[in-house]
Amino acid sequence: MRADSKIARDLANLLRARFAYVYITTWEEERAMETIRHIATSPELIRTPRKVYQWSQVTGFVDPDGKVVHETRRPLSAISFIRRCEEDALFVLKDFHVYFGVDHRPADFEVIRAMRDALPDIKYSESMKNVIILSPRTVVPEDMQKEISLFEFPLPDEAEIAEALADMVAENSGLRDELGPEGHARLARAALGLTLQEAENAFARAIVSRGCLDEESMRVIFEEKNQVIKKTGILEFVSSDLDADDIGGLENLKAWLAKRNNAWSPEASRYNVPAPKGVLVTGVPGCGKSLTAKAMSSMWGLPLLKLDLGKIFSGLVGSSEENMRRALSTAEAVAPSILWVDEIEKGLGGMGGPSGDSGTSQRVFATFLTWMQEKEAPVFVIATANNIAGLPPELLRKGRFDEIFFVDLPTRGERRQIFQVHLAKRMRGDYIGSQLTLDDGLLDHLADRTEGFVGAEIEQVVVSGLYEAFFARRPLRLSDLDYAIDSTVPLSVTQSETIVELRRWANVRAVAATKREDLQAYATDPAGGDGGDGGDVRSSRGGRSLDF
Ligand code: ATP
Repeated sequence: MRADSKIARDLANLLRARFAYVYITTWEEERAMETIRHIATSPELIRTPRKVYQWSQVTGFVDPDGKVVHETRRPLSAISFIRRCEEDALFVLKDFHVYFGVDHRPADFEVIRAMRDALPDIKYSESMKNVIILSPRTVVPEDMQKEISLFEFPLPDEAEIAEALADMVAENSGLRDELGPEGHARLARAALGLTLQEAENAFARAIVSRGCLDEESMRVIFEEKNQVIKKTGILEFVSSDLDADDIGGLENLKAWLAKRNNAWSPEASRYNVPAPKGVLVTGVPGCGKSLTAKAMSSMWGLPLLKLDLGKIFSGLVGSSEENMRRALSTAEAVAPSILWVDEIEKGLGGMGGPSGDSGTSQRVFATFLTWMQEKEAPVFVIATANNIAGLPPELLRKGRFDEIFFVDLPTRGERRQIFQVHLAKRMRGDYIGSQLTLDDGLLDHLADRTEGFVGAEIEQVVVSGLYEAFFARRPLRLSDLDYAIDSTVPLSVTQSETIVELRRWANVRAVAATKREDLQAYATDPAGGDGGDGGDVRSSRGGRSLDF
């Protein structure tokens, strides 16, 4: 633990300010203990050095020399020892949250009362005393909300991880190390997002599996990190080679994102531009919302983490609140990063829902909103939503997202581009060849014939056409694509009312993802305007048009 570490300074400040009960939520008990011991003995952090007493249900209090303090195993006796103690001391209580009511165990009100009664003896005693509750989850009894201060214990930063790696290398003197200082720094960066223990495990695995440290070790660390992050059940790394060129249309959205690229660079800070918080992309299903999120990683050259809110609330992966906290701190640890909150409405569906967990859902949601509002780490959020009806107004309030974009059915020009993307993608490599040339005539023809099709349906037309050709063991023909088009009943027909509803919502709240010129062309385009046979769906479009 470095003396100048921000965590150490922040925690020391709380202790110096005589906060009686400080609650630290972390899986990293050992790292937290190290920080606490370091603070307790560092006069530059805390004016009055303190003895550190650790308590657990198994041993009761143990002093810094490892001597057990008799008769302190019961929680009430432990509290009474804290009250009586006349030394300058930090009392670390491990797993004390179990007395606050967890799982099916009810809260122990005798313990809670005793803690409240002890408060003046801790806060105003002549000796300097603080109690630190150390636990892997946050459980604060309703009655002690005012007395307990929560302390965020972030995951280790690059310097801490690098230190652990250096220690490991030093301990294994015979190790063949081909990486050197610059390689070590990259390895440490690759392990960001892991706890110190997990990072050490990842390094150990890399060393054992390769018998040395070399370029391949990086891959092992990434694999290990993916595993660890996946284990949370709600967060995963998305690696994709999709890029802006793979998105047909949506020029407004793409331009907006392009302008915010590198917003955290030192160069950007010279322009005093505020760090972007995030964007909410909603709209018609199958029109490229997820595609845009996936392409962002390449567009910005940053890691992309996908957060599955639905799973947070499913109850399958442990405590929702802890899951949310851990996910957000992982995203912060790998920052600068992009956090993709997929189907954000699903996470909010539980609020007030029949599951009866509205309290939890609201708390988890509030945690997310507060984080969105206050986050300082360079984490850009891209949230995607299909069903806007469930989105609470507080999510849409200014200050949360920098912008809300609406992705509508593609315009004629966009349909052309989407065909271009998917035909070009599939007509390359050792492709069998075709009588078709990817020229204006073909694209105009296809775009004219697919009014009301979403991007996913256009992609499907290309795929189905190729299957026709493959079945007949001959190159792709225009008739294959025409046949696929004729066989498709687009979503805009089957779900026309839903789309009208979406547009009505978007008209007052969102910006069109489509470029202004495309929209104007749409309005004057006989094939795309009022004359279409899709009724309301084709007669007006959602989202204010912005001129970028
Ligand atoms: P959903 O909410 O149903 O997932 P979505 O808007 O997120 O819908 P995507 O998953 O992005 O839709 O689209 C599905 C697929 O359709 C994409 O993987 C892509 O292949 C194709 N597609 C959709 N829109 C476009 C587009 N604008 N350009 C190129 N391909 C597109």
